[in-house]
Amino acid sequence: MSAQVHALKAVSSRAAAPKAAAGFFEPVPFKVYTQRDLDRIEQLSQLSPEQRFEMKVVSSVLPFRVNQYVIDELIDWSNVPADPIFQLTFPQRGMLAPQHYARIAELVRSEAPKDVLEGAIAEVRHALNPHPADQMQMNMPLDEHGKPLDGMQHKYRETVLFFPSQGQTCHSYCTFCFRWAQFVGDKELRIASSEANALHDYLRKHTELTDLLVTGGDPMVMRTRHLRDYLEPLLRPEFDHIQTIRIGTKALTFWPHRFLGAEDADDLMRLLTQLVEAGKHVAIMAHYNHWKELDTEVAQAAVRRVRATGAVIRAQGPLIAHINDDPAVWAKLWKMEVKLGLVPYYMFVERDTGARNYFEVPLARAWEIYQQAIQQVSGLARTARGPSMSASPGKVEIQGVTEIAGEKVFVLRFIQGRNPDWVQRPFFAKYDEEATWLDQLVPAFGETKWFWQDEYDAIREDRLAAA
Ligand SMILES: *Cc1c(COP(=O)(O)O)cnc(C)c1O
Repeated sequence: MSAQVHALKAVSSRAAAPKAAAGFFEPVPFKVYTQRDLDRIEQLSQLSPEQRFEMKVVSSVLPFRVNQYVIDELIDWSNVPADPIFQLTFPQRGMLAPQHYARIAELVRSEAPKDVLEGAIAEVRHALNPHPADQMQMNMPLDEHGKPLDGMQHKYRETVLFFPSQGQTCHSYCTFCFRWAQFVGDKELRIASSEANALHDYLRKHTELTDLLVTGGDPMVMRTRHLRDYLEPLLRPEFDHIQTIRIGTKALTFWPHRFLGAEDADDLMRLLTQLVEAGKHVAIMAHYNHWKELDTEVAQAAVRRVRATGAVIRAQGPLIAHINDDPAVWAKLWKMEVKLGLVPYYMFVERDTGARNYFEVPLARAWEIYQQAIQQVSGLARTARGPSMSASPGKVEIQGVTEIAGEKVFVLRFIQGRNPDWVQRPFFAKYDEEATWLDQLVPAFGETKWFWQDEYDAIREDRLAAA
């Protein structure tokens, strides 16, 4: 029996659980709500008018989008607002700084003219560091004329990120999204590409690349035929150096029907199978924040179906206050992932953008959570690295807190670096109980700069001059 048939059988043998089993491969209509539709979400009527008003205010600044599956299957409405999936998808007052909240709330309440409100919203957004880690200038590859190539980032030697223009949204939005700016409709803030050709030209020329990472938004929002346009050509011999095709997605959480009953789900499975059978490593880089996202029949059926193609699912996600800042939640998430055949990959530190004040967890606490969680799981789940900051110089991991020559320090390392030579060299920062990001740390032992500082400054100057 092929793996795929086996998966189908496993699903259909659950006939005893009729509700979940019957619908798996049926098309399920995708119903989505945005800011304008807040009043149409039935379950919100249990909240006070004040809470609903707060949601309207916050979602006029930060993007909001949620679909019926998330509302009905993932959120426990008897535990709102504390429910982690509610916090993951619905705007909360604390997500804006008090002065920002007060300013927008006043304009909404007094029904200020549209242009005044929009002007204020734009200013608040601008204050929220919409481009963490110099996304645009620092990471875009340049063409042969030194012009930045739209819709791509090439920061680490082996891996290029590609942002297809059809994948510039998600099935729901995460409240803490570090790419939130591209969802609020400001064209300038978008990183997008409409051209498969530009991607293929770049990949063809850059034989040092082994990994293509298709990301977004969520590329799984795209129709399969578009995804096919980008990926199928990679089976040609000129792309033999591209060993791994990664697809970043949260659809396994937010819309598992994408992989089951959606009109083009069968074709998606064929595409993944085709890539795998041609010898590519296909990795679905699945975004998970909480074990509840894996705790529905539909989510697990989608995981089984994707795995049956031979694609590997690697699981990653940020550590977020109000959602998963608890070792027990991570230990349970990693255990469930391993049980379902997923590979735990990264625990990220929440980025320095958007509603960071609401979501951030101090680095010292993040490390404690990581350590206490990893101690509870078997070796197969200890493939999760972190807590890791995707900062401008690279991915920096907090390896621990210790004392050296009487000074309390963080032990850090690069998991990825702008210069690969920086990787895996331990370095030390002065311990700081409150610091939440790399730029708040200073070198330990009274040193004036990091070992990588001069080189990084030179790279940065070069890049900014080119862009
Ligand atoms: C994380 C990341 C990658 C991939 O790094 P891996 O460690 O190979 O997963 C590539 N590019 C950017 C910009 C990243 O942040």
